[in-house]
Amino acid sequence: PGPLLAGKRGLVMGVANDRSIAWGIARVLAGQGADLAFTYQGEAFGRRAIPLAESVGSKIIVPCDVSDLDSVDKVFEEIKKTWGSLDFIVHALAFSDRRELHGRYADTTRDNFVNTMVISCFSFTEIAKRAAELMPNGGSLLTLTYGGATRWVPSYNVMGVAKAALEASVRYLAADLGPQGIRVNAVSAGPMRTLAGAGISDARVIFNYQRDHSPLRRTPTLDEVGGSALYLLSDMGGAVTGEVHFVDCGYSTVAMPTLEALKE
Ligand code: NAD
Repeated sequence: PGPLLAGKRGLVMGVANDRSIAWGIARVLAGQGADLAFTYQGEAFGRRAIPLAESVGSKIIVPCDVSDLDSVDKVFEEIKKTWGSLDFIVHALAFSDRRELHGRYADTTRDNFVNTMVISCFSFTEIAKRAAELMPNGGSLLTLTYGGATRWVPSYNVMGVAKAALEASVRYLAADLGPQGIRVNAVSAGPMRTLAGAGISDARVIFNYQRDHSPLRRTPTLDEVGGSALYLLSDMGGAVTGEVHFVDCGYSTVAMPTLEALKE
């Protein structure tokens, strides 16, 4: 068989640099023949993101800050004008005030709660609605989440609450868009060393704990997250929708540290 995404066109949102999960996914998708459009958050992010997008031959590279809905609309106008239709979306972006990714969730402010929810959760719904209008032949939408959505993780705080809402929106969007042949899924990645990851207080401690207590005793690579995204975005995952797929070296399946660690 030929490349899995030959002739498919997709939008990738969330490349900040070459460590971004969005970039790890984009690399794999481009390697399977996909034609990719990219958004970057603004000029400063563009300095790193634009050359990366160009390196995989992208012709549509546009700024987009999801807190500004006009900039979201412009992305879809550009895609409609240039491509006419779309096959998939990768939504790999999130934001919260780093001063609140620290200490107690109970101390979250109303402003940061709303901002975190709008950028990290509701943007996926706004994007899904616009993408679906360009998917007359069906499609696949993917977002990124983390295990802190369903179980407490220190410092993850309001981001955990936003990811729980994001995972719920995956299920609701899957039901809404399923009749049009559009699938909606999330990849729940283990901890990765990225810009966003570093915003969480004591990220290194959490990273090391999860690495040492996963069945595989490591964390996922960008290529592995990309491979799982490829499965969900291509026809290989054709009957999968409304799912949160863990790519975390098995961490989500264990309830306790290893016996060796418990006995220490
Ligand atoms: P990253 O810093 O490389 O990417 C985050 C992206 O979000 C950046 O490109 C940034 O520009 C974008 N962004 C933030 N606010 C935005 C806005 N208002 N408008 C448009 N874009 C905005 O970090 P990453 O770890 O690759 O994050 C990608 C996704 O993966 C996020 O949803 C994150 O929560 C999720 N995730 C990360 C980890 C991890 O450990 N790093 C684990 C699981 C899930």
